[in-house]
Amino acid sequence: WEKDEGGAKEERIVVSVRMRPLNATEMEKSDPSDWDCINDTTIVFKNSLPDRSVYPTAYTFDRVFACDCNTRRVYDEGAKEVALSVVSGINASIFAYGQTSSGKTYTMAGITEHAMEDIYDYMQKHEERDFVLRFSAMEIYNEAVRDLLSSDGSPPPLRLLDDPERGTVVEKLTEETPRDQWHLRELLSTCAAQRQVEETSLNETSSRSHQILRLTVESTARESKGRDSSSTLLAAVNFVDLAGSERASQASSAGNRLKEGCHINRSLLTLGTVIRKLSKGRTGHIPYRDSKLTRILQPFLGGNARTAIICTMSPARSHIEQSRNTLLFASCAK
Ligand code: ADP
Ligand code: MG
Repeated sequence: WEKDEGGAKEERIVVSVRMRPLNATEMEKSDPSDWDCINDTTIVFKNSLPDRSVYPTAYTFDRVFACDCNTRRVYDEGAKEVALSVVSGINASIFAYGQTSSGKTYTMAGITEHAMEDIYDYMQKHEERDFVLRFSAMEIYNEAVRDLLSSDGSPPPLRLLDDPERGTVVEKLTEETPRDQWHLRELLSTCAAQRQVEETSLNETSSRSHQILRLTVESTARESKGRDSSSTLLAAVNFVDLAGSERASQASSAGNRLKEGCHINRSLLTLGTVIRKLSKGRTGHIPYRDSKLTRILQPFLGGNARTAIICTMSPARSHIEQSRNTLLFASCAK
């Protein structure tokens, strides 16, 4: 990560790529692995295919995690600094991007857990401040926003409102104040269970929704409590498990599924555009309002907010097209 002497300049968007191991099916089919992580930052396509001239063979990111890297390392090197900025009052978002079955949920679940542990650890070590945590969770499915903590079995879709001070807010979104780390873990597993999973022809457990878990951290210096509002820090970190990045056409299904695909693409496409614009210096019009996902995340993306994008991919030949699309997305985010 780039840093000035004074530590003032940190990269605002950290992009990494994580390769999962070949799975049992891929091994059975002797599906060859096409990619090599030649060092911590570079991934290369190692086999020659007839069309190799069309695509780059080497890709460089802030970090590249080979298939033998565990999630702890992915977190430590690809997300920790961004996640922990929340305790200093800096908004943060961590995304998992990639095709279905590439390891988004696996990676994001681990990262969320490590980050929550670190945040609790930090709070324990900083007794000079009083901390309040708030947790909320939502899912965007078909451009409808659903509360994952609602006690109502099938809650109505939530509306987005424009608040002059806070920007876009999700109306009536449940916010829980976890009693302790274990309570927070319980809330996390409730969300995982709630997550809408639908069968598709592509993958039985394909997740076609975007999930946002949000932890808000507010802290006040004990000494100056009540007297000095500048001693209060308030920020949130968002853990975003995106829907599969494969195109709708690949799911070879019609009607509702196709509509879902288009919405997923709209949110993902808009996210791509927003991230690309932000990474190029955040000037000019940024189309946050073009999708629910980017509207909801707008207050947490601009300004001095920190972002980590972890792109997950399969090493298998059979997924080469999707892997290239993922690497292309990752390259554009830099
Ligand atoms: P996605 O959310 O992108 O659809 P998942 O996270 O559900 O993909 O991963 C698909 C399968 O691969 C799961 O069974 C998961 O446990 C496994 N998997 C994913 N990444 C890894 C990894 N780095 N190491 C081992 N298993 C993995
Ligand atoms: Mg998933």
